[in-house]
Amino acid sequence: MDGPHPIRLAMLGRQGAGKGTQCVRLSHHFAIPHISTGDMLRAAVRANTPFGQKASEFMERGELVSDEVITGVVSERLGENDTRVRGFILDGFPRTVAQAGALQEILAPGGLLAVVDLDVPLEVVKARLFSRRVCAVCGANYSVEVFPRVEGICDVCGGEIVQRPDDTEEAISRRLELYEEMTRPLTEYYRRLGLLEVVDGIGSLDEVMERILAALRGRGIEGQVFGGQDS
Ligand code: ADP
Ligand code: ZN
Repeated sequence: MDGPHPIRLAMLGRQGAGKGTQCVRLSHHFAIPHISTGDMLRAAVRANTPFGQKASEFMERGELVSDEVITGVVSERLGENDTRVRGFILDGFPRTVAQAGALQEILAPGGLLAVVDLDVPLEVVKARLFSRRVCAVCGANYSVEVFPRVEGICDVCGGEIVQRPDDTEEAISRRLELYEEMTRPLTEYYRRLGLLEVVDGIGSLDEVMERILAALRGRGIEGQVFGGQDS
């Protein structure tokens, strides 16, 4: 039973800090699934399931869905084979101390290897969120700095580029407020567990990625080889 250990990571950081983008890159780098609770919830909303309809009411107001519901969703996903074998990078979960406690139970007897806190000042994320546009189909992000080749059309999939329904001024303010109130305490929680790496999120995508990788290397977390083959 001495195979490669699963790489289990989580990312904290304000809305608009660039978590999603860096998590996608890390998931490729380490060949681990990217588990974004926001993406999972938006998929449920698009599929118009009863669960999605309920969740969208909370999301559009910028409120959190209940700990119980989101923990159930994540728990199911973490029970699948790919995450058990390879590990994962969690994006948007945990977001409350109750969720962090539930995650410990789900992962016991193991646990997370590291938690990255992507640090970007409030004023910067506000500006980013107000200018953010997303592809309605694949979720690719656009902004005043990153715009599509053809206006309104996604470069990746040709889908329509829209403003997220929860990127209204009111919902943005509410989400940032809830971040300070409900999620900020997690930095202390994970610092006490010795898992926290605070990474400066200002800079180019490559610079930020390199900082994250350096922090993880410092903990002995490096891309690894699965099944005896290079990947
Ligand atoms: P943001 O970080 O910009 O709010 P996300 O895509 O991570 O965007 O999440 C969108 C919405 O989904 C949140 O505002 C919240 O309503 C809901 N959500 C996502 N993750 C969680 C979670 N762990 N707990 C509760 N609600 C969540
Ligand atoms: Zn797209």
